[in-house]
Amino acid sequence: MNKINTVCVYCGANAGSNPTFRAVATELGKMLARKNLEMVFGGGWDGLMGVTARAAIEAGGKVKGIIPHFLSHLQEAACTEIVVTKSMHDRKQMMFDCADAFVALPGGVGTLEELAEQLKWVELGQHSKPIFLLNASNYWTPFLELLDHMKTSHFIKADIETMMRVCSSVAELGSAIEDLNRARMEPASSGFTVEDR
Ligand code: AMP
Repeated sequence: MNKINTVCVYCGANAGSNPTFRAVATELGKMLARKNLEMVFGGGWDGLMGVTARAAIEAGGKVKGIIPHFLSHLQEAACTEIVVTKSMHDRKQMMFDCADAFVALPGGVGTLEELAEQLKWVELGQHSKPIFLLNASNYWTPFLELLDHMKTSHFIKADIETMMRVCSSVAELGSAIEDLNRARMEPASSGFTVEDR
């Protein structure tokens, strides 16, 4: 498993009504820069997207924005790198390819769709990149309840906890990424993993 070097952030193109969301987005951007983690995101300057990206850039972080051509007039010009794609599909694929892990902040249907796609791909065994849900001010709790409902109704087989890690703070997220990176750096003590036995 690769060390996590690049984190794809999914979040609202609006900032939302709760000022905590902006504060958490700022904290996330700073944390990524401080830990030398590159941020990949949808490239827009609006809402939580711009807030997170600018916080990371101002803290000296590397930020790659990947934006489709039809939204390119909304791009955050301060990004350290901007890629303009032909379509939303190309953009999503490129965001996926660049990322070692995913973080979802509060957002609307765009964020929900991006997060749900990653959850489904994990469920289908298409990738095992970690997914983190930053449940700022319990914004995502109704979604977590819906996932539980899907699970108890037997539409989701895997345990939700195996598909993603829910964090209630940026500090918790930062520690979780560090723990994963530490585990991935450790040399295996034998030729076998637990799953092999
Ligand atoms: P939403 O959560 O509905 O605001 O959608 C945000 C997500 O959709 C982001 O993670 C972006 O990838 C994409 N997106 C939506 N609106 C924009 C925009 N104005 N500029 C760039 N990306 C956008």
